[in-house]
Amino acid sequence: MSDRISEKLQILADAAKYDVSCSSSGSKRKNDNKGLGDAYGSGICHTYTEDGRCVSLLKILLTNFCIYDCAYCVTRKSNDIKRVAFTVQEVVDLTINFYRRNYIEGLFLSSGIFKNADYTMERLVLVAKKLRTEHKFNGYIHLKSIPGASDELMHEAGLYADRLSVNIEIPTEQGLKLLAPDKDRKDMIKPMHYLKGAIEQSESERQTLRHAPLFAPAGQSTQMIIGATGESDKDIMYTAHQFYKGFSLKRVYYSGYVPVSSDSRLPGMQSRVPLVRENRLYQTDWLMRFYGFHIREILNDEHPQLETDIDPKLSWALRNMQTFPVDINKDDLQLILRVPGIGVQSARKIVAARKFGKLDWEQLKKIGVAINRARYFITCAGGQFHRDRPHEQIRQFILNESKSKFHRGVQQGSLF
Ligand code: SF4
Repeated sequence: MSDRISEKLQILADAAKYDVSCSSSGSKRKNDNKGLGDAYGSGICHTYTEDGRCVSLLKILLTNFCIYDCAYCVTRKSNDIKRVAFTVQEVVDLTINFYRRNYIEGLFLSSGIFKNADYTMERLVLVAKKLRTEHKFNGYIHLKSIPGASDELMHEAGLYADRLSVNIEIPTEQGLKLLAPDKDRKDMIKPMHYLKGAIEQSESERQTLRHAPLFAPAGQSTQMIIGATGESDKDIMYTAHQFYKGFSLKRVYYSGYVPVSSDSRLPGMQSRVPLVRENRLYQTDWLMRFYGFHIREILNDEHPQLETDIDPKLSWALRNMQTFPVDINKDDLQLILRVPGIGVQSARKIVAARKFGKLDWEQLKKIGVAINRARYFITCAGGQFHRDRPHEQIRQFILNESKSKFHRGVQQGSLF
């Protein structure tokens, strides 16, 4: 690789690290054209930087030139940084070379905005098109959609990319106006609308016509920056809920704000990246998508913020002790899913295993239940562990136990 390309790669990969929406989930693109590679099921490996962010793909910007001046972005036009741009062919060559060497399993390509949305989107699409048509590349491709790009370009992007994403960037419209006054939320929503319709249409065509073309088979996603403006957790998660519902998104990503500039509208340069908050938001997102919780149960006017010292499922359980104890041997799956310490897999295993006999503490442990949490909320063949303890006491027991585990260097096994 030439020094020039290597320098561009360094700059443009570094600028891309702030985008966390790079997991591959769910694309099924088989190698049936004698082409290069494949992406099947969860066939993309994920790797993580020291701070835990997913960088599984060749994750780069096409350019860090940008006509916009979003205060939260390192690439904004007023930032005094070295600007570079790849050509379309350079990105194609890098992807193919890295793929052949087994360094990557796909491409995550985003960009600053060169002249306007269409001019930039056209180049992103061309990269994907060349990879698919000239190189018969079947690896994973995730393209960022440029807000304001035309429907025609979005359509072409969907024909070549596995996943498309439009970042809404800041959770509320007011926040966006404050930090990126040149941007309009409507320009972000429009491509999402288009993609939703086109994805649904493609799915229905493929049910009747086996060879109908794939269109963004891994769906669309978005990302919000957390902590750059003063939104509550409730504001953030209600926005996420609306986007999941309105645009059938596969994922919403939450990215803790990393201080990139001194600006009176933003948290100070010394402020910490809100990683715990980010994690609690992901846990809440999981509760909505996989555990059957409605967002209003977790966050509402009375509880607009998530607790940081305990996870949102435990927090909900402690506020709703009248729901417990759940009878592991009788109650339905939806109720078992609400027990702290029981994940989706364990809940399903419980329902399957109890058909063969009543389950006791030992069996629950073997199934993978985190007994140290669940025992305060369930009853099983071994009886009930604690009766009528006040919720403050249960909270303290669980916190003490987590702390002593932490001090003994034991890692917590379950998400909830
Ligand atoms: S448009 Fe995108 S790349 Fe440009 S400054 Fe705003 S967030 Fe950064």
